Amino acid sequence: MTITARFHGVTDQGRVRKANQDAILVDFPLFIVADGMGGHAAGETASEIIIQTFRTFVGATAVDAQTVVEAIGQANAEILRRAALDPDTAGMGTTAVGLAMTRTAQHDEVLVFNVGDSRAYLLRDGNLRQVTADHSLVAELVRKGEVTEDQARRHPQRNVVTRALGLHQDVEVDVMLVDPRVGDKFLLCSDGLTNEIPFQEIRAVLMTLADPVVAVEELLARAQVAGAHDNVSIVVVEITGLEASLVPEDLDVDTAPGFLPGLTSQR
Ligand code: MN
Repeated sequence: MTITARFHGVTDQGRVRKANQDAILVDFPLFIVADGMGGHAAGETASEIIIQTFRTFVGATAVDAQTVVEAIGQANAEILRRAALDPDTAGMGTTAVGLAMTRTAQHDEVLVFNVGDSRAYLLRDGNLRQVTADHSLVAELVRKGEVTEDQARRHPQRNVVTRALGLHQDVEVDVMLVDPRVGDKFLLCSDGLTNEIPFQEIRAVLMTLADPVVAVEELLARAQVAGAHDNVSIVVVEITGLEASLVPEDLDVDTAPGFLPGLTSQR
């Protein structure tokens, strides 16, 4: 592993919810935000299952796309198995958005993966952009031009996800590879952040506060001030170093993330 990074993450119950059904993993080379759903402790169980499944890879030298997709399939099966055993957890599910530091074809790469409506953003050269597509009803309405991004944040059906772990036997995982650059800042977050704070405000905080610890704490503080109606999870990962000889500047032509859609984990 030749990527170095500094990072910080927090998950918080917020001001309204009785429990925190979000869960995070912040441990090189893996970073995950999971937003559990389902009544009474069920959501906590589902999000904890995906985190525990991935915890076994912490400390690994590389985590490739195949490993990620298989692990999500494994967690999905475990969530369904547990839900079938315990009526209290029937119908539980979870989103999962994450980063895995990896290497393919002798390049350092950042693997971004997503199921559901938690998000990954990348701040590069002052531009913040969402690198994941939300698997949600309102995201589909936004893509069709029927509602705006701002309307989506307040839409009554904004919590309806179209993909999640725990829904079906098969789970389709979006996997993208990003060619990292020193200074890149990745943000992973649950909708408890993005429903509270406008995009430009998130960008301003990430631009202004260099230290991931300070940026994460500031974003959480602002979500609290905005009301923190949902659980809030925030992870910031800044790329601080790459193996220079392997990633020459003049070869860094294609910086757009490659989309590998439709990778389905089947069991
Ligand atoms: Mn949420």
